[in-house]
Amino acid sequence: MINDHPKDKPAGAARSAKFPLRLESMVRAPKKLVSSELTGRAPAAGLGLDSEDVRRRMVERLRAANPHHAGVLRALASVPRHRFVDAALVTQAYEDTSLPIGHGQTISKPSVVARMLDVLMEGANAQRTGQLGRVLEIGTGCGYQAAVLCCLGRQVVSIERIRGLYDKASANLAALGLQQLRLVYGDGMLGHPPNAPYDSIIAAACGAEVPECWLAQMAVGGRLISPVVGAGKRQMLVVVDRTEAGYQRTEHEAVQFVPLKSGSI
Ligand code: SAH
Repeated sequence: MINDHPKDKPAGAARSAKFPLRLESMVRAPKKLVSSELTGRAPAAGLGLDSEDVRRRMVERLRAANPHHAGVLRALASVPRHRFVDAALVTQAYEDTSLPIGHGQTISKPSVVARMLDVLMEGANAQRTGQLGRVLEIGTGCGYQAAVLCCLGRQVVSIERIRGLYDKASANLAALGLQQLRLVYGDGMLGHPPNAPYDSIIAAACGAEVPECWLAQMAVGGRLISPVVGAGKRQMLVVVDRTEAGYQRTEHEAVQFVPLKSGSI
């Protein structure tokens, strides 16, 4: 994992310092990453000796409720969600619920993560290659979805505007040794031009519209998914595909996300 670290540059700008960690592809070895040997931490209280069973049951419930992309379910089965939530919430980590992660923010429900990743996997480049390619996530939060994205993409850039959450995600993710992941502290409304163009863009926070610079940072054949405030202040999922001919926008179901805010704090 590479961190664009807060201490190196002035406030508001994207910042950078590297601490390379062990190379381990979650796509190639998803089972290994979930073990407590690799994370180096004792299994969480209340989850038994190994959380793999609990996680498998969560995935079974998701599968029973709705059809999902097999790779997405594999990714959800691989990432230890309980390691991304506070100790007091660990027993709820595999319920289909959003949970508080501090700073007034929440980790998304597994079914919503699955749904958004399913949609991304149907983008033109993702269908052609079978993976999400170069990914931009806006809203790292606790880092859970970034870890799931690493199972599905070649390179993942994830931006967080709240320094306390950027630090929390860095700590949560460090043990996983994801070399394909770059965490950035800064304003995701600006995207992250240094790694553009992106095959897949996913926002975990809801704005009034999809920012123009996200569109500009999409690859041809790329797909973006974001919650957007629609009529009557209701949020909905919006998907944008970039083709040779331009951009195509489609609107999907109602959702509920925390607000997308500008600047970094
Ligand atoms: N994917 C996250 C969900 C985090 S909730 C997870 O798995 O935990 C959404 C996050 O978006 C919050 O942490 C919030 O601080 C962040 N956010 C909101 N506006 C942002 C912006 N302009 N740039 C970067 N992050 C933003």
